[in-house]
Amino acid sequence: MSKSTDSKESESQQSKQLPIYRHKAELIRAVKDSTFLLVTGETGSGKTTQLPKYLHRAGFCKDGKIGITQPRRVAAITVAQRVAQEMHCTLGKEVGYQVRFDDCTSQSTAVKYMTDGCLLREILADPVLSQYSVVILDEVHERSLNTDILLGLLKKMFSKPGKAAEGRSFPLKVVVMSATLETDKLSSFLGDCPVFTIPGRTFPVTSTFGFAVGPKDIESSGYVKEVVKVALDVHTSEKAGDILVFLTGQVEIERACDLLYEKAESIDYRYDVEDQTVEGLLILPLYGSMPTDQQRQIFQPPPSGIRKCVVATNIAATSLTINGIKYIIDSGFVKQLNHNSRVGMDILEVVPISKSEAEQRAGRAGRTSAGKCFRIYTKEFWEKNMPEYTVPEIQRTSLTAVVLTLKCLGVHDVIRFPYLDCPEERFILEALKQLYQFDAIDRRGRVTRLGELMVEFPLHPGLTRAVLKAASLGCQDLLLPVAAMLSVENIFIRPELCGVNTDVLLPSGHPEKQKEADEKHKALATKSGSMNDFATLLAVFQLCKSSGRPSAWCKDHWVHWRALKSAFSVETQLREILLRLQQKRDFPVDTYDGEKSELFRRCLCTGYFTNVARRSVGKVFCTMDGHGSMIHIHPSSSLFDHEGKLNWIIFHDVLVTSKVYVRTACPIRYEWVKDLLPKLHEVDVYELSSVAREEVTDEEMKKWETREAAKRQPEVSTEDV
Ligand code: ADP
Ligand code: MG
Repeated sequence: MSKSTDSKESESQQSKQLPIYRHKAELIRAVKDSTFLLVTGETGSGKTTQLPKYLHRAGFCKDGKIGITQPRRVAAITVAQRVAQEMHCTLGKEVGYQVRFDDCTSQSTAVKYMTDGCLLREILADPVLSQYSVVILDEVHERSLNTDILLGLLKKMFSKPGKAAEGRSFPLKVVVMSATLETDKLSSFLGDCPVFTIPGRTFPVTSTFGFAVGPKDIESSGYVKEVVKVALDVHTSEKAGDILVFLTGQVEIERACDLLYEKAESIDYRYDVEDQTVEGLLILPLYGSMPTDQQRQIFQPPPSGIRKCVVATNIAATSLTINGIKYIIDSGFVKQLNHNSRVGMDILEVVPISKSEAEQRAGRAGRTSAGKCFRIYTKEFWEKNMPEYTVPEIQRTSLTAVVLTLKCLGVHDVIRFPYLDCPEERFILEALKQLYQFDAIDRRGRVTRLGELMVEFPLHPGLTRAVLKAASLGCQDLLLPVAAMLSVENIFIRPELCGVNTDVLLPSGHPEKQKEADEKHKALATKSGSMNDFATLLAVFQLCKSSGRPSAWCKDHWVHWRALKSAFSVETQLREILLRLQQKRDFPVDTYDGEKSELFRRCLCTGYFTNVARRSVGKVFCTMDGHGSMIHIHPSSSLFDHEGKLNWIIFHDVLVTSKVYVRTACPIRYEWVKDLLPKLHEVDVYELSSVAREEVTDEEMKKWETREAAKRQPEVSTEDV
């Protein structure tokens, strides 16, 4: 260990003041004494940063690693940085992190922070987690899909005596950490495991409602302007103390920060501000995909006389604690992934938060002294539009990838898996149906060869299938970059977004810049040679890579260099996974004798045939997946305004506002999906429920198949592009 310096000294002083510190010895003993331990405590008590450190010092890393999961990527990275600093080591050495497509660990890593998705992948390769001596599932109250699945898997691992010890030479300890919510339920789920509560001290927070914001503001993003107004009011009329604003996502946050910045400039601190010790406002954004060096500032105390105002997503509700917050401004909304039955897909949408979430947000103001929470929404909104509790992710999103993972782990009966809260059966059946359509499972619900390959990729199964198809035809160079580009944040810079939820992205403030960006993007689409958004992504990837000066190229073309840089790295990693599979297994090999120019789109069709739409009238398309949703091409697509020339399209994602828009699309020929489309209607989800169970007799199977054969195939027109 290196010599301590002043700052390190004060840092450890700081961690000694955390509520968890006084319970260090008891906690270590409790972990030693039981297999499952539930640790609860107020946000900020030191669970995430301190407990792994204590266990490390107490010798828990003698045989294996300590793994700590986080539902959010940014939390895994930020916390690992903090703990590495506290333990005086270089990040990636003793303390490291791993998130999807970014592994910052090494041979010497003993304390590993990671996303819950990463641990789930590790279980696939090593079902008893033989490298770990302690697994800590953190932020369990967030109820993320992957954490819920991990809970079930760990419970199952220990449910049969001796099973967990198989393949392990030392015992595994499981710690489950959560804010003080649903403690009894969690403990009883884990076989009445002991609960360790870290007593925390919180101060009262008074909450007030607003007059302006109600449900209609979802469409117009009207809450952005309102939080800015309230934040400025607080800044000018309240006593010193930092502000934390809860907003929905990156675009809204950056817009709010710009507005705040603009308005704060005109404050005259001699006359406008009530508390004369306040001499300035420091505005800081905080969201998931933010560059990590920018995040550091969030935790620093502001210079004397300056009030800090952090504008954050829900990440600041529990995942990251910012000290010194006295005022909360709550927009009342959150961006959430929900399964939309209207279009049969998961969609990121803005929804009202739950009442328990609102309490959690308010609580952030009472950490060091009494605080105030300004809810910008009305009392009526609270009563009529906000649910009591947040619905766990497992009950509101697609389970396709998770069900495939479970199946690959040998959990055949995915309906009777030990879920903390059961997802609706129709969601499980929907997932089984999709896996069947992608040929990842067979009619009996068993994983196919293709399914085994598919599970290796941290991508949506459809996209994976397209990649695998391309690889079998030897043209992976076309699909790998596209898969990478679709796995990173949006790469196209839009100088001014006005209301992300509005139908058209309206320029405001800098119309000339918006125009320039639009023209550059259009030129890129034209360069790719065809009206095809996937091909544009491929072209951007290739052009930038071969440009010699990639960052300058990006600036020139209004493309996010940071996003593209991650796409390059993601592509390399996907290529490595593919290579590994191609070397190890009897990888499928296909031939193709059609036109070369079609090859790319045909590969895409194998993964996106579930997202096929046919033009019905004018500019309106109709999906072919049985939902028959009416969809429109989004204005940001290169197909926009060319709808009249198209008949069949496939698309990557959907944006729902007053209309349903599809983005990242390309035209296809009916004949390319002709043989695939019947698969969409081949099985009825309710029929699949019989194969979801463990035992299907041959007789039952035969009956079912006869019934299926009797069904008519769907009628589709052969009209072509
Ligand atoms: P819990 O998990 O119980 O919510 P944490 O361990 O996350 O608590 O946080 C404990 C304390 O450490 C908090 O006061 C928080 O502000 C501080 N902290 C956490 N991460 C950082 C960081 N990156 N920089 C500075 N302080 C931090
Ligand atoms: Mg925590």
